[in-house]
Amino acid sequence: MKNYDAIIIGTGQAGPSLAARFSAAGLKVAIIERDKFGGTCVNTGCIPTKTLVASAYAAHVARRGAEYGFDVNGDVRVDMKRVKARKDKISGRSSKGVEEWLRGLKNCTVIQGHARFQSPHAVVVNDEVLQADKIFINVGGRASVPDMPGIHDVPFLNNSSMMNVDFLPEHLVIVGGSYIGLEFGQRYRRFGSEVTIVEMGPRLIGREDEDLSAAVREIMEAEGIHIHLNAKCISLEKREKGIAVGIDCDDGPPEAIGSHVLLAVGRTPNTSDLGLDRAGVATDDRGYITVDDQLQTNVPGIWALGDCNGRGAFTHTSYNDYEIVADNLFNADHRRVSDRIQAYALYIDPPLGRCGMTDAEIRKSGRAALIAKYPMVRVSRAFEKGETQGFMKICVDAETKQILGAAILGTGGDEVIHVLLDVMYAKAPYTVIQRAMHIHPTVSEYLPTVLSKLEPFA
Ligand SMILES: Cc1cc2nc3c(=O)[nH]c(=O)nc-3n(C[C@H](O)[C@H](O)[C@H](O)COP(=O)(O)OP(=O)(O)OC[C@H]3O[C@@H](n4cnc5c(N)ncnc54)[C@H](O)[C@@H]3O)c2cc1C
Repeated sequence: MKNYDAIIIGTGQAGPSLAARFSAAGLKVAIIERDKFGGTCVNTGCIPTKTLVASAYAAHVARRGAEYGFDVNGDVRVDMKRVKARKDKISGRSSKGVEEWLRGLKNCTVIQGHARFQSPHAVVVNDEVLQADKIFINVGGRASVPDMPGIHDVPFLNNSSMMNVDFLPEHLVIVGGSYIGLEFGQRYRRFGSEVTIVEMGPRLIGREDEDLSAAVREIMEAEGIHIHLNAKCISLEKREKGIAVGIDCDDGPPEAIGSHVLLAVGRTPNTSDLGLDRAGVATDDRGYITVDDQLQTNVPGIWALGDCNGRGAFTHTSYNDYEIVADNLFNADHRRVSDRIQAYALYIDPPLGRCGMTDAEIRKSGRAALIAKYPMVRVSRAFEKGETQGFMKICVDAETKQILGAAILGTGGDEVIHVLLDVMYAKAPYTVIQRAMHIHPTVSEYLPTVLSKLEPFA
């Protein structure tokens, strides 16, 4: 039995920073990882997929060479082995960086293996029992495998196995028209695959407002991606050539036959094999660990951070969880999850940057609000770059003048959104943005123009 001040399970986006904080405080910490260091973001999520986005974007621009005044000799062909090698190098460097960082921390013991609770304050890993008064769970999640007909009879890909793909699928059928499915769809289309996206709901990115779903669909279809919505009874079946994905839509063909199928239908928390019952830690019916506003579980001395607590599904929410827990423990700064403002990006091209409430949420809240929309086609930086798809949308509270929510679907949208996000955190009125002098030519310089168009919700 080994005793520590703290045990951290998982090296995702919260665990390593927390280990460093304990280490810096001169406390003894053990951190346990059963797979690659850095977790999902580093190995199978954000970092590798954004390297793929970069390769796909480069190929896309090369194909548009004539518009920009240059010729490419012959067809633009993507060499998937080299694309993968670039991805592996960048992602591998990050994973190694996390491992080296952890191994170099004073007072920190790094253990490789699968951790399970033995009791509320004891964890077993590699037949060794570790004990601590404080235990932090940062175990993340994995791609869900839906219980659909034929699922056990055909090979399929998910975001993790896609990381090993070093060839071009002839026809990639993607089940799931949300963030992960759309990002994979556009980049494989740009690599040269035929791509079909099959979505159960009536529109893509169903949690967003309808105007965004429609604009994203337009962007995808403009690149030749086939979209099937309302696919109520999705099934998989092996065919002589490829795999048939049953669609059973109200209209359109009854199936899409692809050479490969990628399932992108949500995530499942890695909590079923953690021995949570032995610690008495409560989960909800989907397996997410129940936490309070400061990320403590129902068991004193046990916290859950990152995707496994169901309070966020992003790298920045997991890192923010770390900040909340660390500031509460070490700085007596009573930060809470409910203080944070929803923010994320969808990394299709052009990207969608989002913060705060959707129009639908604002309407539901019943408050008096104003809304402004502005097409990217009227933004000079966008037409200088030849990237004019999308629009900007900002909603504000009619009384307080504070920003309630925004969406920037357009070139630079993932960066521009931060101007609005920071003003939201400052709880300042939107008029602050109108009085700021912005840099020309940028997309951000149009924010005052967009705000000048505010009018009551229709
Ligand atoms: C394809 C894809 C693209 C994404 N792109 C983005 C993006 O662009 N931006 C963004 O913000 N987010 C993105 N995300 C989401 C982001 O990757 C996750 O939200 C983030 O990685 C969550 O981190 P985490 O700290 O919860 O845990 P994770 O990063 O999932 O890490 C958990 C770690 O715990 C380990 N572990 C699990 N169980 C045990 C155990 N019992 N014992 C020991 N170790 C264990 C795992 O091996 C893993 O290393 C993407 C996700 C995917 C799948």
